[in-house]
Amino acid sequence: MDSILDLRSDTVTQPTHAMRAAMANAIVGDDCYGDDPTVIELEQQAAAKLGKAAALFVPSGTLGNQLAIFTNCQAGDEVILGDDCHIVCHEVGAAAVISGVQLRTLESNNGALDAAKIHSKIRHGIDIHEPKTGLICIENAHSNGRVIPLATMQAIWQVAQAENIPVHLDGARVFNAATHLNVDVREITQYCDTVMFCLSKGLAAPIGSMLAGSEAFIAKARKKRKLLGGALRQVGVLAAPGLLALNDMPQRLLEDHQNAQELARQLACIDGIEIDLDSVQINMVWLRFTRDIDVDALMHALHNAGIKANPPEHGWMRLLTHWQIKASDIAHIARTIQTEIAQQ
Ligand SMILES: *Cc1c(COP(=O)(O)O)cnc(C)c1O
Repeated sequence: MDSILDLRSDTVTQPTHAMRAAMANAIVGDDCYGDDPTVIELEQQAAAKLGKAAALFVPSGTLGNQLAIFTNCQAGDEVILGDDCHIVCHEVGAAAVISGVQLRTLESNNGALDAAKIHSKIRHGIDIHEPKTGLICIENAHSNGRVIPLATMQAIWQVAQAENIPVHLDGARVFNAATHLNVDVREITQYCDTVMFCLSKGLAAPIGSMLAGSEAFIAKARKKRKLLGGALRQVGVLAAPGLLALNDMPQRLLEDHQNAQELARQLACIDGIEIDLDSVQINMVWLRFTRDIDVDALMHALHNAGIKANPPEHGWMRLLTHWQIKASDIAHIARTIQTEIAQQ
């Protein structure tokens, strides 16, 4: 297992040995009675770390985002968000199914939304024809691997505050964003009312995400989590590795970012591959083939070299680094791709 270099995603991360031990030894209760002490500790620590009053453990990032929409909005409301964000592209249309909201998408600039454009789309539902804007959603780090600047978030926040519209941050990789910006994560989350982040990606917990916000918001979200079947029982076994993910893993994300940059630099030297090195901001490398390649042969060569990767889509290939990819693995990965491409 450990000898395979799995670059498909940071969701593939295995729990660390310390996490497995913490799971085995976790003190647990029934979280639906509110008496699992390990979950309570995780929720309190996550809230404090994100600068919010309360937090809720959820089984997945998708559920966290959907609960944010379900809790913040009424059916028929409009949610303003980027047309390339996770909620639009990768959550199965859940916002329509669960919350009955209308997604009002804006074109983003590499994931960044323009505050003035958002402002121009906000509606208060005063006219009998028009829906009301219920929520603005932003994503940082964006799933395209870019980090949205604090000034962009601040500008959106100011518009939202002035118009009295809540802001939800899809912060699946918000600790990667904070690492890239070299700021405390609260510098980012100060510009949102509610935030979701994943314990189960680069932070390496096996399962789970956290949703944070005000006490009143989390109380409502807790009930809606029950409605959706996402309330769990002795979930301290998941909160225990979650605590290690929250406390021990953010500080090592820089290593993943440096490994991604080194991989990008080595791949960028290969004839037939193009990489925008400036876009490698977190643990994600996007490369483009500048000529037709035999994808099956490439995947075969990677497989034979003990490397797992998703095949390119529309000429683009995405490679992610995480705690199981070491600096000493980078040259092997780059060389495998170089040798194969050179032969084609
Ligand atoms: C992964 C991800 C999610 C969803 O998390 P799951 O746990 O896979 O449901 C949401 N938003 C972004 C930006 C993500 O990268």
